Amino acid sequence: ATPTAVMVATGVGANNGVLIKGGDALERAQKIKHVVFDKTGTLTQGKATVTTAKVFSGMDRGEFLTLVASAEASSEHPLAKAILEYARHFHFLDEPNATKDGQSNRMESNFFGWLLDVSDFTAVPGRGVHCFIDGKQILVGNRKLLTENQVAIPSHVEKFVVELEESARTGILVAYDNNLIGVLGVADPLKREAAVVVEGLMKIGVNPIMVTGDNWRTAQAVAKEVGITDVRAEVMPAGKADVIHSFQKGGSVVAMVGDGINDSPALAAADVGMAIGAGTDIAIEAADYVLMRNNLEDVITAIDLSRKTFTRIR
Ligand code: ADP
Ligand code: MG
Repeated sequence: ATPTAVMVATGVGANNGVLIKGGDALERAQKIKHVVFDKTGTLTQGKATVTTAKVFSGMDRGEFLTLVASAEASSEHPLAKAILEYARHFHFLDEPNATKDGQSNRMESNFFGWLLDVSDFTAVPGRGVHCFIDGKQILVGNRKLLTENQVAIPSHVEKFVVELEESARTGILVAYDNNLIGVLGVADPLKREAAVVVEGLMKIGVNPIMVTGDNWRTAQAVAKEVGITDVRAEVMPAGKADVIHSFQKGGSVVAMVGDGINDSPALAAADVGMAIGAGTDIAIEAADYVLMRNNLEDVITAIDLSRKTFTRIR
């Protein structure tokens, strides 16, 4: 392709909200063999919502939600945000004599006023959070977080978590003072176009893969919904780049599509890194392409544009 053709293609991309950082990236995209998608915020909407909160101890529901939300209050994780929102809503609705006006006053003056003081807050990547409330340790996260802290998961709780995961939800386990006190189920719906894009990639000879830090069962349920058979789950934040390298063996051209801080090493490791425009700045910096419309169809647009620019029609 001539420099003019590259310039024209870059302009066409920009007009469609596909920002391409340089002619090399534009050229590499025509040869993409594998596209590795991050799950949360890339294939899914990244709008986690608590759908279930089950208390397994004798504890009052409001008290349970207060403990969990307080523990998560210092976390930046989307799961933490979902939990805080749910607990806030519960307390808001739970206010016995609240009139419409009373509720809005409460929201303004005491939005998160019901949160408890915590000490020694720690966020454990790929696991969850822990801290102390009233001198007792609280753990909020996945099975690994609990078992690594010697908290046993009773079989009826395990069964409940498995059911959540089989319906594509993430189970968040909560232990207080070394006892499992409850479980939350969080759902994050797929983007509307996700399944069509996966199918479209396969039609043009590109292999779709999903990578996530989430557990195997949830990952597989989501992958099934979106039509991806090759899943890499329970990948630690640092491990996503290794997944990219494993597909690059034999010289295959690999693209990564992601939105999070966690994804930036993989975006940099990929031959073609594509960041979701709504993603974090670090991901956008690490990528070769930025998909400004936040629409996964633009992954196909990007490959098409490169193929049309660099493939001679005979
Ligand atoms: P993802 O690739 O889905 O962004 P992360 O590495 O951020 O994954 O998290 C992996 C898993 O660790 C989550 O699915 C969840 O089970 C657990 N986890 C991480 N942070 C939190 C948190 N703040 N609260 C509860 N669970 C968490
Ligand atoms: Mg993500």
